[in-house]
Amino acid sequence: MPDDNLLQVRSIAAYDDNYIWLISDKHCAVVVDPGDAAPVIQYLKEHHLTLTTILITHHHADHIGGVANLLAWCASQGLAKPVVYGPAHEDIAVVTERLIESDIVSIASPASVFTVLDVPGHTAGHIAFYLNTGHQQHIFCGDTLFATGCGRLFEGTPAQMVDSLGKLKNLPDQTLVHCAHEYTLSNIKFALTVEPQNKDLLAWQETAQAMRRQGVPTVPTTVGHEKSVNPFLRCEEASVIESVKQHQAIKDTDPVTVFAHLRSWKDTFKA
Ligand SMILES: [Zn+2]
Repeated sequence: MPDDNLLQVRSIAAYDDNYIWLISDKHCAVVVDPGDAAPVIQYLKEHHLTLTTILITHHHADHIGGVANLLAWCASQGLAKPVVYGPAHEDIAVVTERLIESDIVSIASPASVFTVLDVPGHTAGHIAFYLNTGHQQHIFCGDTLFATGCGRLFEGTPAQMVDSLGKLKNLPDQTLVHCAHEYTLSNIKFALTVEPQNKDLLAWQETAQAMRRQGVPTVPTTVGHEKSVNPFLRCEEASVIESVKQHQAIKDTDPVTVFAHLRSWKDTFKA
């Protein structure tokens, strides 16, 4: 089994608000969703790391845009070609290993084992990667779950997204949530509009604002934390249902109905 002491998980900032996640031991690295190659190459050079594996959650350009340049750079260094894993249900030319729910990605270096979850909704074939080192659990969830928010429904249905978020919600509470964007402060503004009395959320706003003032990423958060502050994981809470009802008449209080209204409310919300 991989040893936590050997594996490090780091975020690399890219574009305006993207995070590329990098998992490494002392010598080798895995990257998740490298939308841009340049900051990854810089990190690999600075830390003398060999890139062995690229994991892709979905087809959007800000998640796959750097793959071709990373492969070209590795080739120019005389390094072995990294293996590129991605969703089976999306057509992504750079992906060579196509994955579905429950597939296992077993990597020799850095020694790590990822389990695949199908999480459609943001895109039709979106997947997430779960890593359990024995000491710490991690979920790399792309644009499905964000700190205090969730991805827009570009291709999937509310029912699919509720099911996908349910899978993430069922992970152990201490699981670190490695999402792909720094959207936290604006997500908190919306969440407080939905649940102005949520004490955990009010405390989180203070903490997150202080982190951003210091230029510190607000992610990863944890599954347990998200369950207490993220309205999209709280569609069965009376406070969330009541707030959605106040905003718009709803035909029933089924979690899918509540989620669908909450998501479209957020889509037009001005922070
Ligand atoms: Zn996306």
